[in-house]
Amino acid sequence: MSKNNEYTDELDFFIEKYGRDINPEAIIKEDILRQGISFGDVDQEENFSGKSYFIFSFNVDNDGDVINKKYPEEIALINGPYNLRRTIISVRINKTSPYSVLYDKESKGYKIYKYKGKDLDYIGDVLFSPEKSYMLKKTESGKSVRDAAPTIEWGYLIYLAVFRMCQYFEDGSECAFCDMNSNYLNQKKSNKNYSAVKSVEDILSALSIISDADDSNAGAYTLTGGSIIDEIKFKGDTEIDFYVRFLEAIEDKFKGRWISKVVVQAHTKENLMRLKNAGAYIYHTNFEVWDKNLFDKICPGKSKFIGRDEWINRIIDAVSVFGEYKVIPNFVAGVELSKPYGFADIDEAVNSTAEGLDFFMSKGVMPRYTTWCPEKTSRLGKMGNTSAPLEYYVKLLMKWHELHYKYGLPVPEGYGEAGAGKAEFSVSAFMDAFKSEDLNL
Ligand code: SF4
Repeated sequence: MSKNNEYTDELDFFIEKYGRDINPEAIIKEDILRQGISFGDVDQEENFSGKSYFIFSFNVDNDGDVINKKYPEEIALINGPYNLRRTIISVRINKTSPYSVLYDKESKGYKIYKYKGKDLDYIGDVLFSPEKSYMLKKTESGKSVRDAAPTIEWGYLIYLAVFRMCQYFEDGSECAFCDMNSNYLNQKKSNKNYSAVKSVEDILSALSIISDADDSNAGAYTLTGGSIIDEIKFKGDTEIDFYVRFLEAIEDKFKGRWISKVVVQAHTKENLMRLKNAGAYIYHTNFEVWDKNLFDKICPGKSKFIGRDEWINRIIDAVSVFGEYKVIPNFVAGVELSKPYGFADIDEAVNSTAEGLDFFMSKGVMPRYTTWCPEKTSRLGKMGNTSAPLEYYVKLLMKWHELHYKYGLPVPEGYGEAGAGKAEFSVSAFMDAFKSEDLNL
């Protein structure tokens, strides 16, 4: 580890200070997620699962030389001076990240390093997400399975983003951290087959291929896409009309094959019953940021078309439809500290989000979070925002687990395994940070 007389890297500082409460794997994962990764030369012919740009870019940098190259969807870190147990991390390209993945000729493998002050320190060995046989196949209509139904989380989650444009953008009220529509336009430039709207037939055909594949380890699927505003509709469909059609067809054909998760706006009980009856098992209706002022500023579409109080009421109502702990709203952790609207103080930001976590957990809701990737193509990115500090993420990890323990909640369903060396969820470390004693191991 890099320590010299003048400099202690903050990663080592936080591992030393909090490593007994939160495992080093989770702390390193958060540090890499928040800052992204730069890559040296990557053999473009190599057999690994490349980024599918399944919904957002999840890249800090998105210029031509980034999106035209193949980078792994995820990496797994092992070994190294921290004795890392396998830690799966979503790849977010940032050319100026202190983290670099470089090919090592001697071991004929990739390693990850971090600039700590002036030193480039070895952090661990790197595996690239494995290419699954089904990703290379085509649906009956000739669409690529990688585009129609890519898998992430090391193959655990089938990601069905069936509408990759969000109507909030057309209204100028998109969430300030979101780059969905610019990602679509960007991808379209380099991949003419990248689709905005998918068909039920293609989804069913892609799922059949995955279901039959010997190397599939998928345990869940997420059905999602951009918001459809009920007053506007999409080709005559409300949001619920649109997504229920997919859900019914999938559950009709594959009932019980995978855990079904649906990510849509906050809906009335009547609409939620339609989702439930169509086969939705877990309902995600993402809250993004707790503080009232920040919610209105950072999520102006959600605020305008549904409203913060109503969004909260609908989340609570959803528990009576889907059951306890099956309503899982997401927070985009870190945007509370973004400029110009956010908190200036780390503890204030953590306390604000903790208030929301506490509130939801006390009502049988299972809030979770993803680590904010400050894409330069999002509104917050264009305002010059960079990542939130590591201290914030370490404190939030501890807070989430403290509250989760306080309310005696189960491990969330639909997120694969929990604990260091096992977790598959790749966009925050809350699943990695479960302690073995909490998992009865
Ligand atoms: S609701 Fe917000 S986060 Fe979701 S796609 Fe639309 S703008 Fe993006």
